[in-house]
Amino acid sequence: MDRAATEAAHALTLEEGEFLPFSVAWPALRDGYLQWLQAHESTGARFEAAEVNHELALGALQLHGRLDRLDRQPDGSPLVIDYKTESATRTESRLKAGTEDTQLAFYALLTGHDTPRAAYLNVGERDPAKLHESPDITALAALLADGIQHDLARMAAGAPLPALGEGSACDWCAARGLCRKDFWSQP
Ligand code: SF4
Repeated sequence: MDRAATEAAHALTLEEGEFLPFSVAWPALRDGYLQWLQAHESTGARFEAAEVNHELALGALQLHGRLDRLDRQPDGSPLVIDYKTESATRTESRLKAGTEDTQLAFYALLTGHDTPRAAYLNVGERDPAKLHESPDITALAALLADGIQHDLARMAAGAPLPALGEGSACDWCAARGLCRKDFWSQP
């Protein structure tokens, strides 16, 4: 087992047997990632921070978020990266969702930079790591900023909050049950 894998198993208090499925998948994932990293760094981009908290004042609001990874490009502008271990098709569908996919737009907004880049980095043992970059992130971040301010102003004015989430958004939502969507049907 690689030293990093041994340390991870130790940190997670896993027996060697429990780590076996991960250690089997690890070499392909590692090699695919390192191959991507070499090409990525050849563009001049450099890793800056991981699991980094960012805050941004937006009017009277304070936005908070934690970025998986922040790289710096040769011109000093940020490249926000979010790791995904799902299928590449699923990652591509996130970008196709445009304004419905708010994760990268929110992270780009948090950088406070005028022209950030933002991308999902798909990593896994089946395919080499691949960066899926949002082509419109500056526009999407601006739309999101407007949308957040608009929606919160409406909420403050007493607008009702129908349960609008769909599909897997509801599977991961901390408000499931509270919003009553599972017991609610549209007229
Ligand atoms: S569970 Fe409710 S609040 Fe959460 S995303 Fe779904 S509809 Fe929205």
